[in-house]
Amino acid sequence: MPWMSRALPKGLTVLLAAAMLLLGVQSISSAAGSYKVTEGPYGIVRWNPCQTVTYKYNVSALDKSLRKKAAKYTKKAFKQLGSATGISFVNEGATQTLPDGANWWRVQSVEEEIVVAWVKKSGKYSSDLISGGAYGVGGMVYKTWESDGGHSVAGRGYVLVDTKSYTKLTNGFKSGASQGNLLLHELGHTMGLEHVSSKKELMYDTLTSKSPKGYASGDRAGLAMLGRDGGCIDVPDWVWVEG
Ligand SMILES: [Zn+2]
Repeated sequence: MPWMSRALPKGLTVLLAAAMLLLGVQSISSAAGSYKVTEGPYGIVRWNPCQTVTYKYNVSALDKSLRKKAAKYTKKAFKQLGSATGISFVNEGATQTLPDGANWWRVQSVEEEIVVAWVKKSGKYSSDLISGGAYGVGGMVYKTWESDGGHSVAGRGYVLVDTKSYTKLTNGFKSGASQGNLLLHELGHTMGLEHVSSKKELMYDTLTSKSPKGYASGDRAGLAMLGRDGGCIDVPDWVWVEG
C-alpha cells in the first residue's frame, strides 16, 4: 500500500471504499430525465474532472478478428463519455491487465486508471468481478481524506465485458442492445452513475430493444454533474499515488 507508507499530513487519514459497497444512492429527477449517483461518507463520489484520466483496453480474450474493432469501440465510447462529462480521457493503448479480485485497483498504474477488459467465464481470461449471467460490469474505487470536513475522489475504475455475450449484441453504437451501448453503460458506472428505473435511460439495469442510442437526457445530466459541471476537486498529491 504505497499511499499509506507515505507520511500523511498530521490529522489526516486515508480510507478506501469500493463503489460496489454502496453507502448511499442519491436519486435526482428533472424534466430532462433521471439519474442516480453514488454517495460516500463525504457526499457524491466523483473523479476530479480537472485532470486527465487515462485508460487502456485488454482485448486478448476476443477472437483475433474482433480485437481491432473492440479497441475502436472502446475509444469511441470514451470519446462520448468525454463529451458528456467534459473530462479529458487519454488513450494509453493496449494492456494485459485484467481486473480481478479485491485488489484489482492496486495493479492499475497511473497509465491505466480505467481498464476495459473482455473476459471469459473460466480460464486465463476470467475474473471474479463479473457474475455469471452479466453481460458486463463497471466499477470504481474512491479514497476519502478527512481535512476540512472530509472529501472523496475516485481514482481507479474498470469495465469487464463478457466475450460471449458481447458477440451476441448488435454491432456499433446503435439504439437497443448494441455493443456500444454496453460499453457506454458500464463506463457510466465507472463515473459513479447507478441504475435508474426508466427504460428511456441507458443506465436502466438491462439493455433492451428500447435502449436509447447512447446516453439519454438523464444519463447526460448525471454525467455532466459528475464531470466538469460539478467543479474541480482539489486532490492532495498523497491521496492517489502510483501503486
Ligand atoms: Zn449496470
